[in-house]
Amino acid sequence: MLCTSWGMYPEIECRRLLFERESDLVDIMHSNDEMIPRGNGRSYGDSALGRSLIEVVPHDCFLGFDREQGILHIQAGALLSGILEVFVPRGWFLSVTPGTKLITVGGAIASDVHGKNHHVAGCFSSCVVEFRMMTPDGEVLTCSSGMNSELFHATCGGMGLTGVILDAKIRMKRIHSVHVEQTTIKTKDLSETFEAFKEYREVPYSVAWIDCLASGPELGRALLMTGDFADDGDLCYRPSRRPGVPFNLPSCMLNSRTVRAFNGLYYGRIRRRISRSRVDLDTFFYPLDAVDHWNRIYGRNGFTQYQFILPMEMSYKGLSQILDTISASGKGSFLAVLKLYGPANDNYLSFPLEGYSLALDFKIEPGLFSLLDRLDELVLDHGGRIYLAKDVRVRRNTFEKGYPMIDRFRRFRKENGMDRTFRSLQSERVGI
Ligand SMILES: Cc1cc2nc3c(=O)[nH]c(=O)nc-3n(C[C@H](O)[C@H](O)[C@H](O)COP(=O)(O)OP(=O)(O)OC[C@H]3O[C@@H](n4cnc5c(N)ncnc54)[C@H](O)[C@@H]3O)c2cc1C
Repeated sequence: MLCTSWGMYPEIECRRLLFERESDLVDIMHSNDEMIPRGNGRSYGDSALGRSLIEVVPHDCFLGFDREQGILHIQAGALLSGILEVFVPRGWFLSVTPGTKLITVGGAIASDVHGKNHHVAGCFSSCVVEFRMMTPDGEVLTCSSGMNSELFHATCGGMGLTGVILDAKIRMKRIHSVHVEQTTIKTKDLSETFEAFKEYREVPYSVAWIDCLASGPELGRALLMTGDFADDGDLCYRPSRRPGVPFNLPSCMLNSRTVRAFNGLYYGRIRRRISRSRVDLDTFFYPLDAVDHWNRIYGRNGFTQYQFILPMEMSYKGLSQILDTISASGKGSFLAVLKLYGPANDNYLSFPLEGYSLALDFKIEPGLFSLLDRLDELVLDHGGRIYLAKDVRVRRNTFEKGYPMIDRFRRFRKENGMDRTFRSLQSERVGI
């Protein structure tokens, strides 16, 4: 059948492999096929696409909860949204969550996802106490940072290329309210944006929307949203029903004029330099989930998210050049998200490092990939790297230069026969 992921590009013919028991999965592993595990397909590009896809989503049972320690034991196909529906009313939240709750626990570990609190809480793997996974020989191993630690560090961020995560124990965070006290800071240019990030770095959650088409003295103008959970004890969590985009919109609707107009209105709707509001957690953490199938606004050719990170000392210079290049190209993005990150972890292919990352959505159109190749060069010149969870086109040598532990990852896969079993379109393209 035809399969694609969130960016709707590429669309390829795949076989879907379902299993009921672990013994069925052993048979699948021994079938001599090339395969890749698949969660909810919310990665943007081709990391969960390949000849055969092992479907993990049906495995979504809750296996236990240690109330004293706040540790949830859950199968890898469970969606974060399902966890929230059960646990928010009981006063627990995910310690680390990305900007969508519609992903699986397995997908969160395999991409080692990060959230708005990376600078204080690290990646998803930092809340993983342990997980069980099946390797290509059909063996089931328990992994943590202290047990089968090589496998743990290769799997967290390893894009499904080491085996199938079956279930995990994750540490939850105590909350007392479904509301977040949000402060929005409006900045005039990139240096004010950096100043604001620094000033608010003690606040646990932060993210900035940046106007990527602004240029000259307005280059890097942004709205920085920071916040933390309120203390007032209201835990009534009712995820709202979501309106949806019913079909692919004509892709010509998105052009530099419409993006510029949108960006002007979005930036202009906030009048004061600092404004405060109280918002519910879905609005703060998952604004994009409010509209079903919002990916269809990019049209039937699909879109990609370009996300890179730069080390702290190179971030200002690198971002100025990259924003200049984007603004001059006229290829705008509604969504341009700037985030501050804390130190890197020990996982071989984990994306974050101490510095700033920028993520931009672009519709797929002629000329886009050559623009992104130019941006790649600037990213490498400034010591940065590209995020695999969003990628669909990075070249092998660009990717390699950004990840110093790439050879260790490759060696580990080879030594354990993983390279013969687990392959995705992405792994073949970037040579991992
Ligand atoms: C609106 C939106 C916002 C996002 N915001 C963020 C963000 O803020 N931060 C961030 O880090 N990411 C973000 N992402 C990316 C997303 O969190 C990751 O791509 C995530 O991995 C998707 O999980 P999934 O369950 O859909 O997995 P899939 O897309 O199906 O798979 C992703 C990868 O995980 C592997 N995998 C899946 N399940 C398993 C398993 N059980 N065992 C082994 N490997 C497995 C796959 O092989 C693949 O390589 C966002 C995505 C969207 C659509």
